[in-house]
Amino acid sequence: MKKLVIVFLLVFFVISGGCDKPLKDYLNPPTTGNKTLPEIESKIPMARTLPEVFKQEIVSDMAAIRYIDFETSSWEREFMPEFIMIHFMNGVVVSKEDPYNKDIVRDIFMEDGVGINYVIDREGNILCMLPENRCAWHAGEGEFLDCPKYTNKMNFYSIGIELMAIGSKDDMLQYIDGATYDSLDDSLKGFTDEQYESLNLLVAELCERYGIPKNKDRIIGHEEFSPHKSDPGELFDWSRLELEGK
Ligand SMILES: [Zn+2]
Repeated sequence: MKKLVIVFLLVFFVISGGCDKPLKDYLNPPTTGNKTLPEIESKIPMARTLPEVFKQEIVSDMAAIRYIDFETSSWEREFMPEFIMIHFMNGVVVSKEDPYNKDIVRDIFMEDGVGINYVIDREGNILCMLPENRCAWHAGEGEFLDCPKYTNKMNFYSIGIELMAIGSKDDMLQYIDGATYDSLDDSLKGFTDEQYESLNLLVAELCERYGIPKNKDRIIGHEEFSPHKSDPGELFDWSRLELEGK
């Protein structure tokens, strides 16, 4: 029994080891290229635990609720969101003719055991799949700005938004072959004006609600965190996001 407890403690120590870096390591975060996160200095020493008010089930007024199962797609959020992560998704693997069918998309979340806070459909409608007090499982493994706090833990610190879209051929080759991509109607590819419009509204609201700086260091693409991912990809026009400091 004693041995078991020691093994458990050892395993726990190994698993949690990466999260317990001394504070000073966070105060001088390494930089990547010309990207830095100066805000880290002021924010890390403060309690980052979610204030009680944010433990409520918050959903943007602009969104229609289309919840997926909380238990197979998310954890309860513990920390204030610091990032917004943008993705694309579609159901083209299931249906080439109807890749934006909302039931297909919802089934993909449920079957894959993943989650997202918001989906924006082709018409710009915002759907809430998980309220903001849920940490959706959308980011997966990855790293950001060489800061160990975020390594494989971006789900904890971000709100995820999926745009229903099909990316470029290169972006899509990990899901479908080239011939299938070529056979798709061109109107299905890329992002719509309505999506950019709704995304701007939603990002503005979330930044305001959580005090997230509305700039490119904090509004990030999935591919920036997980290099093996290709979303939102080449067809997403970042210049259409109304960010500060551009
Ligand atoms: Zn993604």
